[in-house]
Amino acid sequence: MGDKQFGAGGARQASGLCLTFGDWFVRGWHGARDLFRQYDAKATFFIAKPDKIPNRGWNRLRALQSDGHEIGCHTMTHARLTKFLTEGTFEDYIVQEILPAHDLFLRGP
Ligand SMILES: [Zn+2]
Repeated sequence: MGDKQFGAGGARQASGLCLTFGDWFVRGWHGARDLFRQYDAKATFFIAKPDKIPNRGWNRLRALQSDGHEIGCHTMTHARLTKFLTEGTFEDYIVQEILPAHDLFLRGP
């Protein structure tokens, strides 16, 4: 099959690689824009603690998004799920960590 693989329905698809980055290293991600461009690579950046990102960080995220990258969010406080679940439920985690991040993203900084 070489560099090709069969996808759903048997159609040939080019192989791919999914690049994801996490947390709050926005300055470094922004600094790698030329490298992403050089390889025509697109990535998804999942930020944590979105309420702690300063305006310049949001501007850098917007620049990454305008380059074609995807910006997502994975938690509000970056609580460790395994520790969290010793004291709360998974539903508590969703309510405290995920939904506020989702709302903040929809509303914007
Ligand atoms: Zn993380």
